[in-house]
Amino acid sequence: MNILAIGAHPDDIEVQCAGTLARYAAAGHKVFMAVATNGNVGSPTLSREEIANVRHAEQQASCAIIGAELIWMDFDDEWLMNDRPTRTRFIDAIRQADPDVMFIHGPTDYHPDHRISGQVAEDARIPASVRLVETALPHISKIPHVFYMDNPAGVGFEPEVYVDTTEVFETKRQMLLCHQSQDSWMRAIYGEHTSITDMMTDNSKARGLAGGYAHAEGFREVKTYPRTGTFAMLPGFGV
Ligand SMILES: [Zn+2]
Repeated sequence: MNILAIGAHPDDIEVQCAGTLARYAAAGHKVFMAVATNGNVGSPTLSREEIANVRHAEQQASCAIIGAELIWMDFDDEWLMNDRPTRTRFIDAIRQADPDVMFIHGPTDYHPDHRISGQVAEDARIPASVRLVETALPHISKIPHVFYMDNPAGVGFEPEVYVDTTEVFETKRQMLLCHQSQDSWMRAIYGEHTSITDMMTDNSKARGLAGGYAHAEGFREVKTYPRTGTFAMLPGFGV
């Protein structure tokens, strides 16, 4: 299968579903990681262009760990809008990946870029398969099955299914550690106690506890027409 995760910022996909992506990759599936914004406000010291370059390199390093293909959409951080250029770019991301399964941000996430990224991704799912919706890439033949990823720290998100990520937790941690610029930034904006890696680890254990594993990632299925798949498309459910 082809698997596509769409995150708003460099590091979002790692936090919420890199373990699941690592399991897909290990099983021989093709994994794409699409990042909507270039992270160009995520620094207390660098210019927007400088930090965007740093974050692109960090994202490439993370993708390389599991052999994922990076789709870098390059929108401005904190200014993601639900408009025609954005939806067009998302349609092309979906057309490039031609996914069977797609992971997106959910509607209860705290961050506007996350919520808009999720909404645009969900709304681009069907037009990606429509021939006369003309973009840079040709239409695809199937409509992907979509799952919402967890929210940061799990706040406001009740998973309905858990993927056991115990065996791939270290891989996930190494992918997140590629985003070194964000540890200092997270501490600067959210407080000295906040390490993005520690936050991810705590949530991974909490979801594991709820799911019956040492580590887990939680998901919800997007239940809109047409129903294109099942939980069985997740690793650990027979895939
Ligand atoms: Zn984010």
